[in-house]
Parts: sequence; C-alpha cells; structure tokens
Amino acid sequence: MTLLPIAGHEELRRALAGAWRRKRLPPVLLLHGAPGVGKQRLGHWLGQLLVCTESGASSGSPGSPGDLGDPVGPCGSCRECRLALRLEHPDLHWYVPVPRPRTRGSRDKDDEALEDARRSWLEEARVTPLRPTHSSEVRALHLGTIRNFRKEARRGRGTGPRRLFLLADAEELVAQEASQEAANALLKLLEEPPEDTWFVLTSSEPGRLLPTIRSRSTALHVPSLPAAQVRDFLVEQGVTESAEADRVSLLSGGSIGRALGFLGDGNDDGPLEQTRKSALRLVNAALSSRDADVYQEALGFKASGARGLMELLAFIEIWLRDLAAAASGVEDVIRNRDAVAWLVRKAEERQVDPSGPSRALAAVERAREEASGNVNPQLLLTGLMLDMRRALRTSEP
Ligand SMILES: [Zn+2]
Repeated sequence: MTLLPIAGHEELRRALAGAWRRKRLPPVLLLHGAPGVGKQRLGHWLGQLLVCTESGASSGSPGSPGDLGDPVGPCGSCRECRLALRLEHPDLHWYVPVPRPRTRGSRDKDDEALEDARRSWLEEARVTPLRPTHSSEVRALHLGTIRNFRKEARRGRGTGPRRLFLLADAEELVAQEASQEAANALLKLLEEPPEDTWFVLTSSEPGRLLPTIRSRSTALHVPSLPAAQVRDFLVEQGVTESAEADRVSLLSGGSIGRALGFLGDGNDDGPLEQTRKSALRLVNAALSSRDADVYQEALGFKASGARGLMELLAFIEIWLRDLAAAASGVEDVIRNRDAVAWLVRKAEERQVDPSGPSRALAAVERAREEASGNVNPQLLLTGLMLDMRRALRTSEP
C-alpha cells in the first residue's frame, strides 16, 4: 500500500513549491488548521517534493508532469517518490504523538519503546492509509520521542541531498510532565536546523503551542476543504457510496479525517457518528416536556471527564442551528441531511420560535466554559438540557 493521493490545498501547494524552487522555503514551517484537513499529508507531500529527482526544482525545468494533475508537485513515479509514498524513504521522517508505552525503566528503554510505538504507527499507516482523525486513545509527544527526533536530526546527512522531518500535533508536547525538557530539546534544533534539513510542524491548536516554538516557525494556515472536495475524494477512493459521502461531507466541516470519523465499521457507527447521535438525544430530551427524559439522558454519561464533552457540545450546536433553520423554513441549509423531516416536525410540534435555538446556543457556550473546568458531566449536561428547554420553549426573549 502507498499513501493516497493528496486532496485539495492547490493554492498552498503552489505557494510551497514556488518557494522551494526559488530556494526560499523556510527551514521550519508550522502548518495549522482544523483536525483532519490534511496538514500531515501536505507536509509529507512537501517532503516528497524535496526528495523527488524529477520535479522542476531538481532538474531546473519547471512544469514536469505532476502527481495526478498537479503540475507543481513531485513526479510521483521516480524511485524517491515511490519510496516516499510507501513511507519508506530514509530521508523523510514522520513523528507523531503515541500512547505511552507500558515498558518503562531506563531512559534508553523508554526511548526504544517510543521508537517502536512510532514504527508500529507507521506500519499501520502503510496498511490503512485512510484513518479517521478521531481517536479515543490518549496520545502525546513524549520526551523520549523528542529525544529520538533530535538524535535522528543531529545524525547529519541522510542518504540523499535533503531531509525533511514532520512533527505532527506539535501542541501535544506541552500536555505532559517534563515538557520543559522536551521543549528545550526541540527548540535548540529549530533554532539551528542542520544543513539541508527542513522541519514541518503541524497543529490543530496552535494556541496551545509553546510561544518559543511558534516564534521559530513560519506559520501557514491550512484551510478546510469545500464539502464537494471531501465528497469527491471519498467516492473516488471507494470509501463509501455517493449518498453517504454527501451526508458525511456536509457534516465534516471540510475535513476528510473527520468525514471518515462518521463512517462506520460494519454495523457499528463511526466515533463521530456516535457523538452526533448522543447530541441528538440530548436535544430531543430538551424538547421533551418530561423531566425524567433529561435526567435519564444525563445519567448515560460518565461522572467525570468534562473536557471530553467538547465534541458533543459542538454537535449540539449544529443540531440547534439546524432546528433554527427548520423553524425558519430554510431547510436547505440544514447540515444533518438525514434528519430534515424530523427537525421540521419537531419545530412544528413544539412550536419552536426561530430565536429559541439562538438562546439555547448561549447555554451551550456557557456549558463549554464549564466543561473546560473540572465539572461533573452529568450535572453539566442536566443543567444544559434544562437551559435549552427553557430557551426553546419561550418565544419571548
Ligand atoms: Zn519523483
């Protein structure tokens, strides 16, 4: 298996390739944007361009045949490109947050276990190149991973003339103990990059990055893709049939990684689909007149871990916006396409005033603030549902 063709971001690719050809590519790039929009894939594409022997930059002639209609990119067929696409290129290094390995002891053993975890991640990526962004596992960039990263970068020249290091989810560096040491190790490297070596950091939460790391990198925003592009990619890659691709691309917010999170595995819903349905049940309970419905829904959640509710709250928001659209008779902007009839019926039955959902959105915003603290999720959700119910019921502000 190889990596799948890169989707979208044509403008950014042209800009990066142009900078590369003019020998103006910054040594440390920070690609930031929503989860699953293809930041790592873009970073890898850039690495492939750097090692490709047939691209315009190496041959001095621009406009070599590109990778799938991409005239600025790597050729896709030279030996270096093929190695890169199989994730086997010795000069392209990809580091990702991994779960903390069990075997711990000496520093060397830690580093080794983390390198093993990284390698098995790469192996998985080779076998299953399309995986949802969403993961319930706790992953981090551990100190040992950064030590390995640094050791590899300091090793000096690779097998070819250029190397590229990709460090995914760089904000995960701070969410751990000993983070200062890890950050310092990384900083020294970014301050004085080895010759002919480029670094690409990616982050979906650049605000969480250490300011010192941010200030040493050139930030580029990777935008979300148009829903149609997400849809076409899913269909072309044979991921799902077109009706389902339509549905999940609208929910994806322009992110292929998120779109995949909605798709199920056999009879099971994808993780994001499960959360979307939980959010629907909560909105439905808020629309019900029975208090018991509210309490029963809230009790279905764990009593701790409010921070994990952010995704759920985001889906509640989408449901409320859809309900507002249904109440105002503008059904074509509804994003939960499979629930248009249900939303219209509920809006009618409950006589939902179009301003009700926007008042309910303010309650979601308050819940979001609470969730960032250490609140019991059951209490938080009970409060939210009762607030939403009040907001949805009164037609007077
Ligand atoms: Zn090539």
